[in-house]
Amino acid sequence: MTAPHSGSPSPVLPSASKACPSPHGERDLLTSCVHCGFCLEVCPTYQLSGDENNSPRGRLRLWREEAEGRLELDPWTATYTQDCVGCLACESACPANVPYGEILEQTRHAHVAAGRTRTPLKLRLAAALAARPWLFNLAMFPMRLLRRWGVLPHRFLFSGRPALTQSTASYAEQLMQQHRPTGPRVALLTGCLMEAMFREINFATVRVLIENNVQIVVPREQGCCGAMQEHLGLDGVDQLREHNRNTFKSLDVEAVVCNSSGCGLALSKALRDNVPVRDVLDFLGGLNLVRRERNAAAETTRVYVDLPCHLVHGQKLAGIPKSVLDATGYHWELAPQARDCCGSGGVYNLQQPENAREILARKSAFLNDAAGAPVILATSNHVCMMQWNSAKASGLVKRPYTVRHVIQLLDPEQSEQER
Ligand code: SF4
Ligand code: SF4
Repeated sequence: MTAPHSGSPSPVLPSASKACPSPHGERDLLTSCVHCGFCLEVCPTYQLSGDENNSPRGRLRLWREEAEGRLELDPWTATYTQDCVGCLACESACPANVPYGEILEQTRHAHVAAGRTRTPLKLRLAAALAARPWLFNLAMFPMRLLRRWGVLPHRFLFSGRPALTQSTASYAEQLMQQHRPTGPRVALLTGCLMEAMFREINFATVRVLIENNVQIVVPREQGCCGAMQEHLGLDGVDQLREHNRNTFKSLDVEAVVCNSSGCGLALSKALRDNVPVRDVLDFLGGLNLVRRERNAAAETTRVYVDLPCHLVHGQKLAGIPKSVLDATGYHWELAPQARDCCGSGGVYNLQQPENAREILARKSAFLNDAAGAPVILATSNHVCMMQWNSAKASGLVKRPYTVRHVIQLLDPEQSEQER
């Protein structure tokens, strides 16, 4: 973690608020904190460091003092801003409804624009690629191939068998033709990384929706939700949001469903007042789901469910519906500290790998002694899945376990081996 703050006061006025228009209108976001401190105990970076400047209240104070000219442009302020995971647990804990995530987004953008934060070239390239889905899909072909062969050359790569060339849009059209569901009609956000690397989760999502009589549209012209650019404070978020707004708003659907909570949160900012954005598991919770029957061998399997921060703190959902988890047919329970951050934070585990590892170490330790054989760690965000997989690959968890998206546990084509 970072060293203690040593800034000194002098004038500065960040132009952060110009970066993205605020839905809170003229309200002065930075003055909304009443300094109660309720957010401190839920903040992973404060828990790790014990440093007030590395807490929500501390960051808000630094940003406000800079904005009001009482603190000079201090490199430590940028450092503490970068140290934030962006988990939004502080928003859930805050009695004053401080829109911390919105302030963080604006501040990070202002810091990058002013050159106070330098984004590594590899992350800028990744963000540029992600914003061009066809190119990203092409560039990630070798990764899909390796995953399909079972070769997992990086700690973030969990096992799976993605389609190599067929897109989710094409697959959905094919299954819609074959099964002709007649129920509610939804659109699916396929995502950039999800489609390029972890496409098997999109395919499973299509199968589960259609099996449950949901009509599904997958617009081919949809683009990246902008979450990555948002995390990094890069330009281009507004354009990506506008593109998706134009893509989804005129569709005759009752919702756009997302199988990644981070992407869902980002898309909801684009589609605000246009089309409802629903987490796919939350949407399925409103249906009378087909329940998976498990064989005797699956009796000993134990599923530990972790809740992505952007599901519970970003989208403000209570969790994954019990009816959905019951429909998997497995014995399941919430992972200890299920509502706490795992350290993935979009690209946080790439930007601040040591902090991310420390946060994950605390959260994943239970897996070493967890009951069940085999053990499945299930969540609903592919970036969290990557982070959980890294606990195995980096030696934090020494016993075998698999990482799955909850939608895969509902999938009619889930392998016999896992049933
Ligand atoms: S978003 Fe998470 S890491 Fe950042 S200040 Fe809030 S609780 Fe702490
Ligand atoms: S809980 Fe909210 S009002 Fe209280 S210190 Fe944290 S951000 Fe400020």
